[in-house]
Amino acid sequence: GIALWWVRDDLRLADNPALLAAAQAGAVVALHIDEAVPVGRRPGAASRWWLHHSLAALAADLRRYGVPLVLATGDPRTVVPEIVRGLGASHVAWNRRYHRPHRDLDAAVTSRLRDGGVAAADCAAFLLHEPWTVTKDDGTGYKVYSAFARACRSRPEPREPHARPDALYGPEQTTAVVAGHRLRTWLDAEGFAAALGARGWLPTAPDWAGGLRAMWTPGEQAARVRLDELSEVFDGYDEARERPDRDGTSLLSPRLRFGELSPHEVWHRSLAAAGEGTSAAVQIFRDELLWREFAWHRRAVLPRMDTENIRPEFDDFAWDDDPEALRAWQQGRTGVPLVDAGMRELWETGFMHNRVRMVTASFLVKNLLQQWTKGEQWFWDTLVDADEGSNPFNWQWVAGSGDDAAPYFRIFNPYRQAERFDPDGAYVDRWVPREEQRTGPIIDVAQSRRDALAEYRRVKNGPDGARGRAG
Ligand code: FAD
Repeated sequence: GIALWWVRDDLRLADNPALLAAAQAGAVVALHIDEAVPVGRRPGAASRWWLHHSLAALAADLRRYGVPLVLATGDPRTVVPEIVRGLGASHVAWNRRYHRPHRDLDAAVTSRLRDGGVAAADCAAFLLHEPWTVTKDDGTGYKVYSAFARACRSRPEPREPHARPDALYGPEQTTAVVAGHRLRTWLDAEGFAAALGARGWLPTAPDWAGGLRAMWTPGEQAARVRLDELSEVFDGYDEARERPDRDGTSLLSPRLRFGELSPHEVWHRSLAAAGEGTSAAVQIFRDELLWREFAWHRRAVLPRMDTENIRPEFDDFAWDDDPEALRAWQQGRTGVPLVDAGMRELWETGFMHNRVRMVTASFLVKNLLQQWTKGEQWFWDTLVDADEGSNPFNWQWVAGSGDDAAPYFRIFNPYRQAERFDPDGAYVDRWVPREEQRTGPIIDVAQSRRDALAEYRRVKNGPDGARGRAG
């Protein structure tokens, strides 16, 4: 029989439970759907660039086994059953997503398939711990990271990565017509490239992706090369990871976002990568992976986390609405060197160091007093690791409207941050020419800090003080 693997945020062959389930059920056909009216968020421009190239890499890897990767567009509730019918498939397998509307969509697809007598396998692969399995004694989830991380660590160790399927092969008969094309088209490199190009996911004019191409090679094989370098990253990781002027972090975030690597494999490989004396690095690195888990633990019960304050008292916050200030921030023209360096790095490479993400986000929200959602949207469009869990979660953390958030009185001083984490100015020099570093800020940084503090204090002392928003 034929089994369909519905590819989503799992663009890999290694340690892929859905692919394994499909391969055990029969000859595999892979399917990727461009959801015409996405139930979640439409990927931003940098994510579409990544997705284009990562899908191309996946199709090439699958072609070696004779497995076609079909590209379709539309509503999965109709597209999946249609393609199943076209192929005469008896099984469908996917790795689940955790945004609530995605869960609802999967449930709808499952019931339509089962009505038609087709087996659907809903597998776990994107997280180390299913969000609903990490609970307090009363059965509810966590809102405080340290307690959540402790609970994760007291659970059984995440499973070891699965081996690749021992037998992976595509359909012998390639004459079926699926998604309007003969199946053969999807096995042919040129036919596939034409269909992928037709999605229009790459920039044309202007081509802003030069810096992305220079820094990244999307796809599982390149992801695995980076994974092999983890032991070098761990050398001095505890200090270097805080320093944007050093290449001190793993750069695995887009790999995890698009599932080019499984978190299970990264988790276990981190221990293997730690030589003598680097056990501190493993502990810190795994804590970072658990922040990713925590963001999704919350996202799973907060479907509006990207638009709504988690703490409702912030609904009353008097944000300033200044499109000019927002544009200056986006374009790296605030006159604050570390902020401008970060925003230019982001535009050029689709990435920004975590320390600088915190500083630039704090500056937008707590100095320019622009609503955090505006910054979140900009990051969503420009980051190659833009993630429906981590991005809004971290923005709310910085803004103070989130769980276990940075205390409102912690307003990063971008000059002090630069002294501490970029002491020689090497990072700023890389992104902002020396003469521009001396222009001076577009606002009075000290005064804006006092204004923000006053507004934060007012909101904090409001009637709703410490209430949290329910799921
Ligand atoms: P490493 O330090 O090597 O960490 C290893 C992995 O742990 C990362 O790949 C990532 O998957 C995870 N991780 C690390 N820090 C965090 C964190 N604070 N929250 C969640 N996961 C974390 N990360 C995203 O993956 N996608 C986003 O859209 C995103 N948006 C952010 C927005 C803001 C305002 C801030 C302050 C942080 C954001 N982060 C986001 C978190 C963090 O900045 C990146 O995960 C990290 O910089 C990626 O670099 P790395 O892979 O080299 O990290």
